[in-house]
Amino acid sequence: MTLAAGRHYLAIPGPSVMPDPVLAAMHRPAPNIYEGELVDMTATIAADLKRIAVTEHQVAIYIANGHGAWEAALANVCAPGETVLCCVTGRFGEGWAEMARGLGLVAEEIDFGLSSALDAGRIEAALREDRAGRIRAVLVNHVDTATTVRNDIAAVRAAIDAAGHPALLMVDCIASLGCDPFEMDALGADVVVAASQKGLMTPPGLGFLFFNERADAVQRANKVSGYWSWTVRARPEMFYQFFGGTAPTHHLYGLRTALDMLLAEGLEAIWHRHEVLSGAIWAAVDAWGQGGAMRLNVPRPEERSFAVTSVHLPEGKAEELRRFCSERLGVTLGIGLGRDPGVDYLRVGHMGHVNAHMVLGVVGVMEAGMAALSIPFGPGAGSAAAEVVARGC
Ligand SMILES: *Cc1c(COP(=O)(O)O)cnc(C)c1O
Repeated sequence: MTLAAGRHYLAIPGPSVMPDPVLAAMHRPAPNIYEGELVDMTATIAADLKRIAVTEHQVAIYIANGHGAWEAALANVCAPGETVLCCVTGRFGEGWAEMARGLGLVAEEIDFGLSSALDAGRIEAALREDRAGRIRAVLVNHVDTATTVRNDIAAVRAAIDAAGHPALLMVDCIASLGCDPFEMDALGADVVVAASQKGLMTPPGLGFLFFNERADAVQRANKVSGYWSWTVRARPEMFYQFFGGTAPTHHLYGLRTALDMLLAEGLEAIWHRHEVLSGAIWAAVDAWGQGGAMRLNVPRPEERSFAVTSVHLPEGKAEELRRFCSERLGVTLGIGLGRDPGVDYLRVGHMGHVNAHMVLGVVGVMEAGMAALSIPFGPGAGSAAAEVVARGC
């Protein structure tokens, strides 16, 4: 039998749950792209995106997913043959490195494994060894969505500074922006990459590049295609230049509404909500693990993302449970990405438009699924999760 009728919860790490007001804002006829509301609104979007990234610097918007934003970031500041240092803490770090190679760059990788955050000491050592200053940029995922590791960006900034190296610090915040605490300028990030469909609660299709003066100076000395160049997009004289062509009209209405929701709640409150809700999931998994084989992929709490949580369940049980929850119980959990075998991991997305009842519902559903599938687990997960929520509100 199935109990899946009712509102389905897509608890994957992006696209995240799209708020009804965001969807409603998009449900309209096409607007004029030459004058009027859309043109006025877009300037406010750029300003408010900077508030979300906590930066006084520039933002360029691309009609692209996160991969497009990755490429845009590299294309602006790196030329073929140049070197980037890639700090890999999961599949998404690997993916950005592969994209760099595809652009003709030399991508040097430091692999920090699949269950722990980066070690800034190793980055500092690699930069110190680079006496010729070949490394143009250090690439870091703030959160790697596959392992659900969160990296300490302040430590990477400190490592670059300690080595006295001119490399730019480029941070992928696609999963973390609007979920995990992040302040671009305070952290000294030179380029920040983001996308619409995770913490920003808007359908996939918009990529964002935030960049500071240092990065802009490197960009000006580089040869960048007219389409990828962030220069005109960040300082357009004509409206179409924001997007290198026709505006992503409906996405912009959706994003405007999402930004209104985010700013009304406030960044501190958003970060707190994600911290408490992720803590509820972690408490549940810890309780289950007392009587079963499930465990959180990232053992150290301070290295876990507030946006998404990877859970290990051996012998293919993770995939079995994921399928059961999706088909019978109305919750779709994320697949285990970047693992061999992937069927031993699942990921719980708790990013964006997510509240206590949704997360406590996921805990209950996972437990019901494990019981139905005769997967052994320890007791008290629901109470443990509820207690975290109670303490956090
Ligand atoms: C989702 C994600 C990407 C890729 O974004 P797409 O929109 O799927 O291209 C890259 N990096 C991180 C950290 C992500 O979470």
